[in-house]
Amino acid sequence: MPRILDGAAIAAQIKHEVAAEVKQLATQGIVPGLAAVLVGHVPASEIYVRSKVQTCAELGLYSDLITPPDTVTTEDMLDLIGALNSRDDIDGILIQLPLPRQVDAKALLDAVSPAKDVDGFHPINAGRLQAGRPALAPCTPAGVIEILKRSGISISAKNAVVVGRSDIVGKPVAMLLLHENATVTICHSKTRDLGAVTRQADLLVAAIGRPGFITQEMVKPGATIIDVGINRIETREEFDRFFKGQVKPEVYAKREAAFQKRGSVIIGDVHPAAFELSSAYTPVPGGVGLLTIAMLMSNTVRAAKMRRRL
Ligand code: NAP
Repeated sequence: MPRILDGAAIAAQIKHEVAAEVKQLATQGIVPGLAAVLVGHVPASEIYVRSKVQTCAELGLYSDLITPPDTVTTEDMLDLIGALNSRDDIDGILIQLPLPRQVDAKALLDAVSPAKDVDGFHPINAGRLQAGRPALAPCTPAGVIEILKRSGISISAKNAVVVGRSDIVGKPVAMLLLHENATVTICHSKTRDLGAVTRQADLLVAAIGRPGFITQEMVKPGATIIDVGINRIETREEFDRFFKGQVKPEVYAKREAAFQKRGSVIIGDVHPAAFELSSAYTPVPGGVGLLTIAMLMSNTVRAAKMRRRL
């Protein structure tokens, strides 16, 4: 029976530690502050940002939600970021993606002060991460490492295969695994015979953005699987393809009830049947996704301390 790596429990543990640190900083008159910039009305972004702001309140961080209209220009956004960079009550700046087409997202991410770049997307932080210097690491990749470490799964000397090479997940997670002494292979859409590579993985990280893409045949029995993917399944046909006769009856019953209730379910980049071959895996939902906000909080406190040289 594979072990399920419980993202909720690990996220709760991290948040508890962050809250304790915030309390300690308060005794020195320091309240870490996060500015969350949410442009326009993208429903998924609104949910994410609301949840980030709410978590700040729960853990005792200050937050400022800024909501420019979706007609905002790159220049307006650069002015806003400049002002946030100068504000002493703000330690972290979060620009929720995606941004409207007319806005130059890269220019904005580059304009955030590296010291306040709690998403870890600034090229300076990416470079520092690669050079093995202390840096604000991107939240989801940092969460992957926390899950492994806090679950007692050793990384050193393991063959780690990361499928996906994005700047926000694939590349940084590969770099973090390398720093933990894994032997790392990064795969992408041009990788030849992907299954032959993924079958070598003791530790398989899927960050592709395609529902159920990693199938049983692509997994080495006993591997640890970290599924970063978040995909929504909205049709009965797709639901049946991934779940009917593919998973244990109790899992099927749970997912079927969720599908009937909401008309959709969330599924990762790993086919649900493939998890059965693993020794341990992160479920979707309930795995890596829950770590992202916890790591954002942790990064904001870290940024607050680094800025004050604490
Ligand atoms: P992305 O920027 O679209 O990158 C996807 C990567 O997958 C690319 O490197 C792409 O290769 C690779 N890929 C696509 N098709 C492939 C194929 N057929 N074979 C091999 N590789 C293939 O996506 P992302 O932002 O990294 O996100 C990946 C997934 O993680 C998504 O499901 C996203 O929703 C999820 N995510 C979750 C969290 C969270 O848990 N909080 C945070 C961020 C993202 P090329 O580079 O060659 O195109």
